[in-house]
Amino acid sequence: MRAKRHIPGKAVFDRLAAENGVAIAVVDRSGVETSSSNNNSICETLNPDGLLSPSCSADCGKALERSVEAGTTIQFTCHAGLECRAAEMNNDSHPVAVIIGRTFVRSENYRRATERAVNGDWKRYSPADLFANVLLTGSSGVLDTAAEQFMNEAPIIADPEPVKESPRQQRQADTNVGSQALAPASRASSLPSVGGSAANAWRSFFDSLLQQDHASARDSIMRFVAERYCLSPVVWLERRGDSFVKTAVLGDVRARKISVSLKRDDPRLRSALESDMPVELGEARSEARRMFLFPIPVGDDVNSALAVLGSIADDRVKHHLARMCAAIAPRLEILRLRGKVERTSVARRFTESIGRAGSDDLWQDLIAAVANILGAERASLITGSDDEGRELAVRAAVGSTFDLRTEPHAGSRVARLVLERKKPIIVDDVRSTGLAPVDTERRYRTPSFMSVPIPIDGRRSAVLSFTDKAGDGKFDVDDLEVIRTITPQLVMAIDRAFLNDRARQFEQMSVTDAVTGLLNRRYIEERLSEEVKRSVRHGYPMCLIMLDVDNFKSYNDSFGHTAGDIALKRVADIVRGTLRGADVATRWGGEEFCVLLPQTTGEEGSAIAERLRRNVASAEFPHRSVTVSLGLAACSSELCSHLDMVDAADAALYAAKARGRDRVVEFSALTQEELGRYRDRKK
Ligand code: GH3
Ligand code: MG
Ligand code: MG
Repeated sequence: MRAKRHIPGKAVFDRLAAENGVAIAVVDRSGVETSSSNNNSICETLNPDGLLSPSCSADCGKALERSVEAGTTIQFTCHAGLECRAAEMNNDSHPVAVIIGRTFVRSENYRRATERAVNGDWKRYSPADLFANVLLTGSSGVLDTAAEQFMNEAPIIADPEPVKESPRQQRQADTNVGSQALAPASRASSLPSVGGSAANAWRSFFDSLLQQDHASARDSIMRFVAERYCLSPVVWLERRGDSFVKTAVLGDVRARKISVSLKRDDPRLRSALESDMPVELGEARSEARRMFLFPIPVGDDVNSALAVLGSIADDRVKHHLARMCAAIAPRLEILRLRGKVERTSVARRFTESIGRAGSDDLWQDLIAAVANILGAERASLITGSDDEGRELAVRAAVGSTFDLRTEPHAGSRVARLVLERKKPIIVDDVRSTGLAPVDTERRYRTPSFMSVPIPIDGRRSAVLSFTDKAGDGKFDVDDLEVIRTITPQLVMAIDRAFLNDRARQFEQMSVTDAVTGLLNRRYIEERLSEEVKRSVRHGYPMCLIMLDVDNFKSYNDSFGHTAGDIALKRVADIVRGTLRGADVATRWGGEEFCVLLPQTTGEEGSAIAERLRRNVASAEFPHRSVTVSLGLAACSSELCSHLDMVDAADAALYAAKARGRDRVVEFSALTQEELGRYRDRKK
C-alpha cells in the first residue's frame, strides 16, 4: 500500500503549475473538476465550468478510479493528445484525483490538435479560446519532476510505508517519448546563465512571446538578440524546399537577397543542434560574407532559423543564442499553428461573406472582402486573359479616389509583370523598385505593396494588388500566406464573377421569358452544362430543381388563361424571392421551372426546395391556392452531366406528382419501381 496524502492548498498548485509550465487539476469522485491551475486552454474550452465532456470524462474523469486501482501514480495521454500524471489524494477525507501535466509532449499530438481545430470536430470552438494557453513541454521528464515535487509538498496522512515506485524509474521508461520532440521547457528558465537582471529580462521576454502573433514574436526575437548581444544585422530565415530564404531583417543588409541552401538532412544542422552552436557559413576570412545560422528546431525538423551576419567573437554568445533558439522553438510553433487556425477561420469567414454577397457586383464584393481581411485601405482586382491578347481588365478597386476601371493604362505597371512572372511581389518600399512614379493623384499613403497572381484556369488569371496597409505597416509573407489560404475560395469566387458577367451578357441577348421575367430554357441549358463542368473541376457540390405547378390545367380551365398567366408570374416571383444571390431560376416551359443551385449540397438543396414549396403553398393567389411539386437532383460522381441531371430532377418531379403532389422528392430517394415507371413513361 502506498502513503495516503492530504491535498495541499491552492497556492501550492498555482506555484508548482507556473514553475513547471504544466496544468494541475483536481477531479472528484463524481468526475467533476473542482479546481485547476494554469489550465491548458484546450481543456478549458472543451470543459467549460469544469464539467467534463464525455470524451474528457473517459480520461481525466476516470483518473481517480484508475489511480486507486493501480495504487500508484498513473500516466496517460488523453484523447486530445495531452500527457498527464494522476495520483489519488485526500481532500477533507474525500478521495480526489490530482492531475498534473495536460501538456503536449509530442509535436505530432499538437499538430493533430491543430488539424482538429482547422478541419475537424473542434472547428466549432473559437481558435482564440482553444489556443490561448496551450502547454508544451519538451519531455515527459518535466511532468515527472512536477509530479514528484507535488507529492513532496503533500502531507502524508496514513501508513507511511516506503513508496515503492521511484519517479526516476518511471522517467527512465519514457525518456524517449519527447526527447527529440521539442526543446525542453526547463531550458527556458535556465537559459542565460548570466544571472540577475539578464535572466529576468530573458524570462519576461520569453513569457511575453505567447501573447503575440507569429510575425511580431519573430520581430521581437530579432530585436532581443540585436539589443542584448549587440549584434547586427539579424536575419530571419524560413525554409523553402532545400533552402532557407530571408523573410525579415533587422539592420542593414543593403537589399541583399539572402538564401542559404541547406537540405533538411544536412548533417551540419543536426550537429549544430546537438552541440548547441550555430552553423557557420560563408568565408571565414571575409567578415562581410559570413553568416551564423541558428536553427529553430521543431521535432526533428528545422523550418526556420535566425542568422547573424558578420562576426560573433564570443563562443559563449553563440552558445546562448543556440540555446535560446531551441527554447523559443515550441512557442513559435504554437504561434505558427495558432496563425494557421486563425487563417482558416478567416477563410471560412471569407467564404461566408462572399456567399452572402448579392451578385450585383461580385468583383467589388470580392476585393472589398480580401482588402478587409488584410487591412489594406487600397486594393484592386485585375484580370488577364491569354487568348484575348493578354488583355488586362480592372474589374474592381477599393480606396481609389477615382474609378480605376476607366483608366486606359491601369495595371500596366505591376499587374502585367505579376501575371507574366506568375509570382507574387511583396515590396517594402516602392521607391526601391525602379518602377515609374505614379501620378500625384494616385500617390499612395505607404510605400509597401503586395501583388498576387491567382490562376483561374489554363487561360485566365487574376491579380490582386494591395497597398496602404492600415497602421502604416508593411505587407509581408504572413499576408501572402493569408491569400494562399483562401486561394481555393478566391478561384471559385472569381470564376463565378466571370460567369455573372456572362449571365449579364446573356440577359441582354433576349434570353428572358416575357410572362415571368425569368431567364429561359435556352439560357439554362447552356449555363447548366458549364456549371456541371465547373462543379466537377473544382469538386464543389451543386443541385438542380425541377418545379411544376400542380393541377394547373384546371386553374386555366376554371379562371381563364389570363388569370393563369398572372398565377404563373406570381409563382415566378416567389421562386425569385426565395433563392439566394448565386442561384439561377428559369422558366423551363409551360408551368415548369428549373432552378440551378451552384455550390449547394443535396442537404442544402432539399431545404431550399422545401422552402420554395412552402412559400408557394402559403402565398395568396387571386382565385385559389396554388401548390407546386419539386424534383431535386444533386451532382455526384454518377450524376455528372447536365443531361443526366435534368433527367434525374425530372424523374424525381414525376415521382413527387405520383406520391400526391405538393411535395419535394430527391432523386437519390427514388425507389426502383418509381424509376421504372418514369422510364416506361418516357419510352
Ligand atoms: P400536374 O399537377 O400533373 O402537373 O397537372 P397539370 O394540370 O399542371 O399538368 P398538365 O401538364 O396536364 O397541364 C399543364 C397546363 O399548364 C396546360 C396549360 O393549360 C397550362 N399552361 C402551360 N403554359 C401556360 C402559360 O404560359 N400560361 C397559362 N395560363 N397556362 C399555361
Ligand atoms: Mg407540367
Ligand atoms: Mg403541372
